[in-house]
Amino acid sequence: MLLQALREEVLEANLELVRRGVVVFTFGNVSGISRKDGLVAIKPSGVPYEELTAEQIVVTDLDGRIVDTNLRPSSDLPTHLELYKAFPNIGGVAHTHSEHGTAWAQARRPIPCFGTTHADYFHGPVPVTPDMTAEEIESEYEKATGEVIIRTFRDLDPDAIPGVLVSGHAPFCWGKSAGDAVHNAAILEYVARLATHTIALDANAEPLSRPQHDKHFFRKHGPGAYYGQPGDL
Ligand SMILES: [Zn+2]
Repeated sequence: MLLQALREEVLEANLELVRRGVVVFTFGNVSGISRKDGLVAIKPSGVPYEELTAEQIVVTDLDGRIVDTNLRPSSDLPTHLELYKAFPNIGGVAHTHSEHGTAWAQARRPIPCFGTTHADYFHGPVPVTPDMTAEEIESEYEKATGEVIIRTFRDLDPDAIPGVLVSGHAPFCWGKSAGDAVHNAAILEYVARLATHTIALDANAEPLSRPQHDKHFFRKHGPGAYYGQPGDL
């Protein structure tokens, strides 16, 4: 089987998405990339998670041409491909319609960093994309979804903010691997839920101070990181 290890990792990451409670039915998909081979492995379209096997994971090139299996890939594949092409350090992408993250996407509001849980993972608010134009929606919708995410990150670092809310749609997250992308998707949902509760308790809640935000982010990320054990991150 072509890219067996990557397909098994992508299968496991898709199942983890279900275990973390961030997908309902088949509304979610995870992919992983082999940068060396220039190939992407992604969940097939519409297959129930409980029936998914590594053989069914679809392998395509970066232009979306299927190179293995006869199933159709997730319809969101073109979004994943745009992200892999634009963000060179990422190794996995996860898309969900998780409840709170999707609510913030529907409210078209970036998620402010209200606390250290958020700051540990996202160096800044979780951004929301602008609305897509009619032409973008009517032409290559899924590719255009990737393009609007990339435009949103024109002045942001995707390695420091591993997720986004697509306006009126839902979150897309990424990470060093498929499993890492799923981890970030579950964290984004938790952070979104905390933010919902925070503004319910205090509609005028202030974001975390910049020094505390930076402290939490940089103790886990970058050259000065000291949280956890060497090699954890
Ligand atoms: Zn979606």
